[in-house]
Amino acid sequence: MTSLWLAESAPLANATDMPERCDVAIVGGGIAGIATALHLAERGIEVVVLEQRSVAARASGRNDGQLLLGLGEHYHRIHGQFGADKARLLWDFLRDNHAALRTAIATHNIECGLQQEGGLRLAETAHEWTELVTAAALLAAEGKPHQLVPEPELARWLPAGVGFHGALHLLGEAIVQPVQMVRGLATAATAAGAHIVQGADVVAIDGEAGDFQVRLRDQRALAANIVVHCTSTLARELDRSGLLARAVFPFRGQILATAALPAAVLAQFPRYAMSSNFCYEYFRIANDRFVIGGKRWSVPGEELGLLDDDSHNPQVTRNLLDYVHAHFPPLRGIAFPHVWTGIMAGTPDGLPLVGALPGAPGTFALLAFNGYGLSFAFLAGRCLAEQIVAGTCPHPAMPLFAPRRCASS
Ligand SMILES: Cc1cc2nc3c(=O)[nH]c(=O)nc-3n(C[C@H](O)[C@H](O)[C@H](O)COP(=O)(O)OP(=O)(O)OC[C@H]3O[C@@H](n4cnc5c(N)ncnc54)[C@H](O)[C@@H]3O)c2cc1C
Repeated sequence: MTSLWLAESAPLANATDMPERCDVAIVGGGIAGIATALHLAERGIEVVVLEQRSVAARASGRNDGQLLLGLGEHYHRIHGQFGADKARLLWDFLRDNHAALRTAIATHNIECGLQQEGGLRLAETAHEWTELVTAAALLAAEGKPHQLVPEPELARWLPAGVGFHGALHLLGEAIVQPVQMVRGLATAATAAGAHIVQGADVVAIDGEAGDFQVRLRDQRALAANIVVHCTSTLARELDRSGLLARAVFPFRGQILATAALPAAVLAQFPRYAMSSNFCYEYFRIANDRFVIGGKRWSVPGEELGLLDDDSHNPQVTRNLLDYVHAHFPPLRGIAFPHVWTGIMAGTPDGLPLVGALPGAPGTFALLAFNGYGLSFAFLAGRCLAEQIVAGTCPHPAMPLFAPRRCASS
């Protein structure tokens, strides 16, 4: 069971053999590991990415490809959860992430279907509409580009949609083909001097800062001065400090996709990053197909604690189809031949871990994006690279993501 994106993408052209030694060994070749490798290589650091499968094989190749602002949440809720100052820092971090990604995509000529028409947050209920109005007032007060779309105007924005109570258009959001984007960044990283080793299953990290031995299942070993964990929630046992096992938990998302739609149906969908119900359901057009994910909240257990992305939950599929049929009449009777799942990593406060692991000198983490890694990881990888190279990163949001905040959890 693979994603549409993985099925249609070429393998990484220039994966390399493993050297014996490097400055920095990165475990995991999703967007987090690849972004960090690119930024380190651009700073002249000898860096090796060890990826168990292939680049972007897990969540980074199984998501919805939306570059979102505000952790996917409506903005006033971020204010409510974190306070005004931190909410602004978080919003600006994501905005800066997208700007940095757009620059990298252009600089390295990465063909990844980037569409920058923005995002449409749809209100599932009258109550959600009042929340969108509140969020819009805050965005207006802070000068953040947006537009409220009342229900009578929605037919112009999303002709296929019914039953929504209005929407908020966020201009800074975008959509991409995620595998092409991450593999394009990986190609740029190798051009800058990084080694990317696929089929490298790390089973243990021995030694200490300045002399780590990163051991693979096939008995090979890589010597490294520094190790960076970019394995999401998939290899928490490799962290000898135990922090990742305590602070990071897995949950599974599921996505359905149609085949290419008839032109008359396609014409009724815009190319926004779209979502409703507080971003729990999310959808978009990709390569003439309709792609939708969500509904994990609607099944017992909410797909929490799962690490298996080889299967899917048939009840989630049924609930997603009910949603599609209720909100998009032109899709009634259209088949969804593609279904896949992906594993995400969460933390108790909803923020990622970016930085040094306390009590484990020479080891760092970049993971646990709580479902928003495409929106976070490129700039976070740059911040981490700066921290590794210079000992500190000037970005004002970095303290929010410091792993030490979870040290006692
Ligand atoms: C259904 C779904 C929809 C999503 N939609 C969006 C979205 O629209 N927008 C958004 O911003 N985010 C979205 N996300 C979240 C986003 O995909 C993730 O936050 C992001 O991909 C995480 O990247 P990562 O590099 O941390 O993890 P991963 O992509 O999971 O990468 C971790 C890598 O580590 C490797 N690995 C694991 N163990 C080992 C080992 N022992 N040795 C070597 N390598 C190892 C794995 O093979 C994997 O490649 C979605 C996720 C899912 C599942």
